[in-house]
Amino acid sequence: MTAMDTLVSPCKRRGFVFQSSEIYGGTGSCWDYGPLGVELKQNIKRVWWRDFVQERPDMVGLDASILMHATVWKASGHVDNFSDPMVDCRECKRRFRADQIDETPWLHFCPATKGNKFTIPAGEACQHCGVRRTLCPECGKGELTAPRQFNLMFKTFMGPVEEDAAVTYLRPETAQGIFVNFDNVLQSMRLKLPFGVAQIGKAFRNEITPGNFIFRSREFEQMEIEYFVNPHDRVDGRPADEALHDQWIEACRAWFTRYGLTPDNLQLHEHARDELAHYAKRTVDIMYRFPMGWSELMGIANRTDFDLKQHAKFSGKSLTYFDEERKEHIVPYVIEPSAGVDRALLAFLLDAYREEEVRGEKRVVLHFHHELAPVKVAVLPLLKKRPEIVATAHELRTRLARRWTAVYDDTAAIGRLYRRQDEVGTPYCVTVDVKTVGDREKGEAGDQRVTIRERDSMEQIRVPLADLETVFTRLLGDAAWTDVAAAYPRAEG
Ligand code: ATP
Repeated sequence: MTAMDTLVSPCKRRGFVFQSSEIYGGTGSCWDYGPLGVELKQNIKRVWWRDFVQERPDMVGLDASILMHATVWKASGHVDNFSDPMVDCRECKRRFRADQIDETPWLHFCPATKGNKFTIPAGEACQHCGVRRTLCPECGKGELTAPRQFNLMFKTFMGPVEEDAAVTYLRPETAQGIFVNFDNVLQSMRLKLPFGVAQIGKAFRNEITPGNFIFRSREFEQMEIEYFVNPHDRVDGRPADEALHDQWIEACRAWFTRYGLTPDNLQLHEHARDELAHYAKRTVDIMYRFPMGWSELMGIANRTDFDLKQHAKFSGKSLTYFDEERKEHIVPYVIEPSAGVDRALLAFLLDAYREEEVRGEKRVVLHFHHELAPVKVAVLPLLKKRPEIVATAHELRTRLARRWTAVYDDTAAIGRLYRRQDEVGTPYCVTVDVKTVGDREKGEAGDQRVTIRERDSMEQIRVPLADLETVFTRLLGDAAWTDVAAAYPRAEG
């Protein structure tokens, strides 16, 4: 398992993730995606949208605004319920989530044993006096306050006047934008149940304890689907909402493995009755084996008709669907697959990261699925002193960049350039050398072929320049390297 620390520094060094406002000391709770991070993130969102929206006849998309009418958050229950219990240290003033405070061992001066000092394991109470942690886990000196509820929504004001009537919130989830547009989408697209509406966008939560790199931050992105179902329908002999809930859980798990997560690093967590949110009939989380332990990657909830009914009640508008067959108006149930883009990106990075030994040397590789890789092809000149080689390489990059993310690099010797591309997960390098362009002074014509090197096997083949679009269409599509490579001569490594 890749440790988080192993990843944080190369992520910065290689332009994936930077700490927000770093030159001012950073915020610690927000992150910026660098030149390669933004490509990776866009690729994740693009394939998710293609697989779950574009390719499915029962799905449409939406892009709702982040600022919404304040009543949305009263109706959804966020104003009253979207809070975590928190405790404060009276000494250093740090704030912790009460339910996470027991996650580290603690030092205790036990009054029942005349002030003897004990280190008590995480989550346990003192065996002698029965007390649970009372001192701050950070400074170790301050007493902790009793738990208080802390609302996680960021409050702000809409318009020029800072008054109570103008209070609104940055959305803490994208889902509500879909519920309040239910009727707009239904009417404009003439949809029949079951159908889903997908949205990708930013969400904000004033988390008490952000951390674990990009796992938990205060500004993050979600990819959410609200899949509306007629609860009176039956699928496979079961109520439609239950059967389709199971189908979505499987589809989401399969999606993560399709793009590279090791199946053994994923498991399902079924919410127990006392863990379920007040609106949920059933919730299953897909957990990933993150370095800090199994943690939620995404959740798939059956939210019943709770949200549509709440918004109908608070807005006074009917949010129903007319069931032609039964000639009745119904309020659909909703299945909600909700994934965090940043958590998905972190899991893909962790799973792709390997340190390997090649001929006695360490090689760091990100074994990204080619659809996720930030750069698809790197074009490298073998000798940067030869103008024909450099010019051909630049031309080639321009040609390939019309279809795929392609970069040019000549800032080191070829071995070093290959390693650099391995480290950022580029699946293919194309090298232009003397044989490609020939030697005009000596009257030697080039063979107009370049070397393609594949990242995982490090195998190399010699391919005519004219074939490159066809070859990369196959390689960056569904074709296997071995099948494509079989048609071309091997090049020396
Ligand atoms: P957690 O229990 O980790 O706080 P949650 O159950 O509150 O998460 P949901 O409300 O179900 O999360 O949100 C759906 C998804 O959004 C999560 O599975 C996660 O991928 C992502 N997500 C939620 N909060 C954050 C955050 N603070 N930072 C990054 N991603 C987040």
